[in-house]
Amino acid sequence: MGPTGEANPLFAPGILAGRTAFITGGGSGIGYGIAECLAAAGAAVGVFSRNEARVSRAAERLADDSGVATIATVGDVRDPEALRRAVSETRDRLGSIDILINNAAGNFYAPTADLSPNGWRAVVEIDLFGTFHACQAVYPVMAEQGFGRIVSISMTIHYRGWPLMAHATAAKAGVDALTRTLAIEWARQGINVNAVAPGPIPTEGVRKAFQAPPSDEIDMFGTRTGGGFAERFIPAGRLGHTHDIGRMATYLCSPGGDWVTGQIFVVDGGESLVSPRTIPAAE
Ligand code: NAP
Repeated sequence: MGPTGEANPLFAPGILAGRTAFITGGGSGIGYGIAECLAAAGAAVGVFSRNEARVSRAAERLADDSGVATIATVGDVRDPEALRRAVSETRDRLGSIDILINNAAGNFYAPTADLSPNGWRAVVEIDLFGTFHACQAVYPVMAEQGFGRIVSISMTIHYRGWPLMAHATAAKAGVDALTRTLAIEWARQGINVNAVAPGPIPTEGVRKAFQAPPSDEIDMFGTRTGGGFAERFIPAGRLGHTHDIGRMATYLCSPGGDWVTGQIFVVDGGESLVSPRTIPAAE
């Protein structure tokens, strides 16, 4: 792993010692990368997702690699009760819930004319409702202790519109709106609410969901074109690493982020600033 992969090249060791994070979708991909960064800064970490074997393995690996206390809890972010139980178990086992990372999400390509109501509902319910349910689940704990840091993982493609992803773009626009609103509503309880909007990061989930890109312009893995995506479409010239997002989340949860709330931080090597590459081919 090169310098971009380091989990904590920036912060004083132990800067998050005594804090506990609860990360939805923390067993894989960007969620796990955030978990590694928060753990490298000393936070105890609870990871939550549906696949018990995977999320449990991730918690064990994280504990082995970082030496912090970890716990895995199992459930679906669409189920508010499951989230409340998981938050309560995590708090009982790890002592508090100081940080919530809303990272769980689903996505797939679908022409909107053919998108089934169930497909639409699944993505909006996981990305947007799931974020709302998790925020509500941690609120009583954070409000009681007078401290909380909520970071939701958004995206950038809804800034311009993005064909074949009406469900995900609508959901993440909602996440951005929720971020700004909760930042105001919950500020006096000491709860900062921000979002991080990643550019393209080749996680296993993205590989599976987007293995058949409908155009060269969104062919992140070179399936159609044989490569060159980062060189053509990302000013920084490389795809993202999960730790690029984890380090921003760490900053927001550290004392450095104390007066930062209601903001959405784009971390994408400049990708969202360039190239009008979203016009669908005529049928
Ligand atoms: P990923 O590899 O597909 O991981 C998603 C995680 O969420 C998995 O651990 C999954 O675990 C969990 N999850 C999914 N549905 C869930 C549900 N209903 N309840 C609980 N957990 C659920 O995705 P990723 O690429 O790491 O993306 C993570 C976040 O970054 C997402 O919010 C995504 O929108 C955002 N993002 C990613 C990219 C990118 O290029 N990768 C770009 C922009 C934004 P289980 O299957 O065990 O539930």
